[in-house]
Amino acid sequence: MPTKPRPCRARVRVVRSIALDVLEAELDMEEPLALPFDAGQWVSVPFGPKNVRAYSIASTPRSPSSITLCADVAPDGIGSAWFRGLASGQTVEFKAPFGGFVFQRADPRPPLFVAEEIGIVPIRAILTDLQETGYGRATTLVYWGRDPRHMPYHAELVSLTRRDPDFVYHPVVDSPGAGWSGGQGRPPEVVSGLVKAAGVIAYVSGGGQMINDVREVLMARGLDRKSIKWEKFW
Ligand SMILES: Cc1cc2nc3c(=O)[nH]c(=O)nc-3n(C[C@H](O)[C@H](O)[C@H](O)COP(=O)(O)OP(=O)(O)OC[C@H]3O[C@@H](n4cnc5c(N)ncnc54)[C@H](O)[C@@H]3O)c2cc1C
Repeated sequence: MPTKPRPCRARVRVVRSIALDVLEAELDMEEPLALPFDAGQWVSVPFGPKNVRAYSIASTPRSPSSITLCADVAPDGIGSAWFRGLASGQTVEFKAPFGGFVFQRADPRPPLFVAEEIGIVPIRAILTDLQETGYGRATTLVYWGRDPRHMPYHAELVSLTRRDPDFVYHPVVDSPGAGWSGGQGRPPEVVSGLVKAAGVIAYVSGGGQMINDVREVLMARGLDRKSIKWEKFW
């Protein structure tokens, strides 16, 4: 049964910078003391009547008394300003949990995850949750950033490939630079090379243009709309 969204209060424990213009905040839940949610869901932060910003929960339901949010603050609107202003000890209010970008465990098809930059956040939660609960089946992630500085959690995902032989990771960038051991290219090209026929279930998260381009490739391979789940951040 999906949990109904409810008003929540939490206290900021720590805020840190984890990539270029990307901040991660850990919040200790105060009301309720533990937040029930599914990996991939988000919180809604209010900014006056009918004005909210959504932030996906980067942590997993296995630690419901403390949640992690992660934001790209480059857009520089009210959401980014709110995130930049978060400080240790501060109380924050939001409503949660929301959203249907959650992993369908009962689905036997191998999952293909595709993320663009900060769009990695809900996918990081899902992959960590699968790892923590011993999913034990093949999972693939295509993760694109303009360059490696715009890819929060990249190092953690590389380390996941060492711990989990069922996890296949394809990080790609436009501008590799020295020391980059991933690939170069765009998500639609990589997905086109990986998926030759229907039979996967896709979870795509990031900007609308990338989502549309990846959907087009997948639908040309025979996937129907329901087999492509997406979370559009912008
Ligand atoms: C379901 C959902 C989950 C989300 N989860 C997250 C999350 O975990 N972390 C996060 O940082 N954001 C997330 N977002 C986006 C977030 O809600 C805000 O839109 C974002 O923080 C920008 O808010 P802002 O007020 O600073 O800028 P706004 O004034 O809202 O936006 C300014 C402009 O920037 C565009 N924009 C917004 N975000 C980006 C981006 N990352 N890259 C390029 N252009 C962008 C907007 O479309 C707009 O044109 C999510 C959005 C949705 C719908």
